[in-house]
Amino acid sequence: MAETLGRLLTDLGERSDYDAVSQCSRCGYCEQACPTYVATGRESFSPRGRNQIVRLMLEGKLDDPVAAAEALSTCLLCGACTTACYAKVSVPDIVLEGRRRLRGKSHWLVRRVSRLLVENRRGLERLLRIGYFFKRLGLSRWTRPFLRAAGLPVLVEMDEHVDETPRRLLDEELAIKNAPKGDAWLYFAPCGPRYLFPRVGTATCAALGKLKGPGTFLENSCCGLLAHNYGELEDARALARRAIEDAEKAGSAPIVADCSSCAAFLKSYPQLFLGAGADDWRARAEKFSARVRDAIEIYAESAGSLPAENDAGATTYHDSCRALNGEGLKDAPRRAVKAVAGEGFREMPGADVCCGGAGAFAFVHDGLSDEVLRRKIGGAASVQARTIVTSSTSCLIQLARGLRKYYPDAQVVHISEYVARALGERHGA
Ligand code: SF4
Ligand code: SF4
Repeated sequence: MAETLGRLLTDLGERSDYDAVSQCSRCGYCEQACPTYVATGRESFSPRGRNQIVRLMLEGKLDDPVAAAEALSTCLLCGACTTACYAKVSVPDIVLEGRRRLRGKSHWLVRRVSRLLVENRRGLERLLRIGYFFKRLGLSRWTRPFLRAAGLPVLVEMDEHVDETPRRLLDEELAIKNAPKGDAWLYFAPCGPRYLFPRVGTATCAALGKLKGPGTFLENSCCGLLAHNYGELEDARALARRAIEDAEKAGSAPIVADCSSCAAFLKSYPQLFLGAGADDWRARAEKFSARVRDAIEIYAESAGSLPAENDAGATTYHDSCRALNGEGLKDAPRRAVKAVAGEGFREMPGADVCCGGAGAFAFVHDGLSDEVLRRKIGGAASVQARTIVTSSTSCLIQLARGLRKYYPDAQVVHISEYVARALGERHGA
């Protein structure tokens, strides 16, 4: 069994994982909010079903670990169930605890990447540059049989899903831009904008600079989300401690992150430091988390300063699950997007439903992910959107793939790009 958290922060305060799962009354009120239940109709693929599996596991009564592993691995961790649940049962945290209990060691690739993120980020960046170089030359497809033979089909799926390969990583892009530094904000670069979508990170810094004045790039390490979600809790804690220390040294400005999955995780750091002996880190994590802002929040509070782009065409917004269900950001992003889109804003049906991306979920559960994605793209097409705005890396990858496949008339952009473009056009940058 992999290490577990054992204790969770619930709506009722700190509880054991067993008490947390026992808060589920099995009412089923959350079922229709769950994309995997709606797509399959299977009780074991519903929040209630998953809670019961983890409860049986904790009681030592689980009789079918294979079925349990399937039910837990197909959870998108989207949190729509928690939002729907009157008791705010934290199903994603419970599912992760269940996965950790079922899992022996994590996959060696996860362990390796997690270790590189902790010990040798530059080494990981070198590997990424080599991979991108191969992909740009069209050679990555030749490596697919070898990756499959090596037990790494997830890398093949990633290669097929991801269409972009940046020529420069974010740190280099920001160094070239050499924007004036200041103390209005600290930019925490999540791995998505840093390694895959540097255009998002540069847009965020440009938008923050225009809206709030000069700030500083924290030059942080990974937030630890990957390690946390894939069973490497000690690595997640090591990365969290580093982020906290870096931010403490950098002053007291708000810490802004532009991938909502990362921002929500940064806000949840105190949960990593529960239990005896972690009091000092818990207090520091609480202070750190109180400073974290999703870039969405900055744009929302500056919505009055955002120029309207009246010729932007029909624009809609897709809720990142972690922004909506993790951070409770429903109206805030819409305030910002509507300020720019004006009359062109159209709310799409199912905007608040997961797109099926969910980190590596789309690479591992391709069929189920595609079923969820098809519904999402259908919603965007039904309002004839030309632009879909969102705020998580995983959503950017997944929606771009869905649009290529089902609705090529539209494009997906990150909210930072959307805001920065509007500011740039109005202010001539
Ligand atoms: S998670 Fe909440 S809404 Fe869903 S069955 Fe349990 S108590 Fe009911
Ligand atoms: S987190 Fe999402 S996919 Fe998982 S049980 Fe809840 S609603 Fe369903």
